[in-house]
Amino acid sequence: MDEAGPEESGPAATDRLRLLRVIPEVRTSNFEVDGTPRAYAETISYIHRKSDFDAAALPSNVIQLSHLGIVRKILSEHWDIVELPEPLWLRALPLSVVAGVAARLKVGRQSRPWVTTYTIENSPFEALASGVLQRVKPLARAAIRCISRTFYDQLIYGSDASRLVYAKNGFGPDGGVEAVFPKMQKPCDGCALAEKEKRILFLGVLENRKGVLSLLRAWATTGLGEEGWRLAIAGSGPLKTAVEASARDHESIEYMGMLDRASTHRELGRAAVVCLPSRRDGRWREQIGLPVVEGLSHGCTILATSDSGLAPWLKQHGHQVVPHDSTVEQLANSLISVCKTRRVPAQVLEDLPREDGVIRARRYMARTAVEGRC
Ligand SMILES: [Zn+2]
Repeated sequence: MDEAGPEESGPAATDRLRLLRVIPEVRTSNFEVDGTPRAYAETISYIHRKSDFDAAALPSNVIQLSHLGIVRKILSEHWDIVELPEPLWLRALPLSVVAGVAARLKVGRQSRPWVTTYTIENSPFEALASGVLQRVKPLARAAIRCISRTFYDQLIYGSDASRLVYAKNGFGPDGGVEAVFPKMQKPCDGCALAEKEKRILFLGVLENRKGVLSLLRAWATTGLGEEGWRLAIAGSGPLKTAVEASARDHESIEYMGMLDRASTHRELGRAAVVCLPSRRDGRWREQIGLPVVEGLSHGCTILATSDSGLAPWLKQHGHQVVPHDSTVEQLANSLISVCKTRRVPAQVLEDLPREDGVIRARRYMARTAVEGRC
């Protein structure tokens, strides 16, 4: 994937802008500090916590608010930038609209915030609106187009696949600023590159759409266990019992339960391979895959599906990509293949950007906010 986004400038022109991020659901990785100097002072407001939220790691600039509390926060304080959920995050649309209205209520060039977002949705609109009656789909499309053009000054895309979905439906901001900064992370600062073990790591919610059942079935046919490989599974969810049963039946499967962030980093550091064989489910498809991004930043070779927004990049850089509707046999072959052809961890890290995509995107937001409000 090409990075079409313009390079960001240094922080001089954007010294300490005030940024409010509005997030419907927060996970600990949303606010892990990476030590990069920021061109802004950031406050993160959120409504709900995800199941992998680690309260012990909560910085003081992260606050839980109601919808009304977020509206008050926007109206009562000065914000240079407000970052909303992306317009195609349909469940978050009520939050995006009320926060967007509040931001637009602030009048005057200096008090009106620059409203922006970072997108990763890559499902076609037809799939996202599959529960909507056929005859009102054009209305739904028009409503989202109107919302994105009314409330957003800018869309920044986290993958080229996401940019294409927005472009195809005319969901970009009217005359607004657009750019692509792929959602990739630099090598993990907190973990030294350790000797990799023959471990394939699955991290995530234990549900069918994450490919858990296919992975368990495929694993049983690969014979990788006899070659010393282990399938390490972390997370919780509806398929927890099935995972526990497989771990009892197969010595080579290890179920670790829910991991805190420190253990997650440790496991990513040990694993030679991270596997995320997500399958489409109704209107849902994998967007990027946090384990894919975090696996790369720990030097892991990745096995993901063609739906991940990073799939073209993964293919170009020696990782494994399987079709989103792969059979158990295809997945088993890919598991065997990824173990045989896994990349040298230092080379995986070598391919990564020196700075996280979202950090670069926010620096670009800060620069364009200054230009856009001049
Ligand atoms: Zn780490």
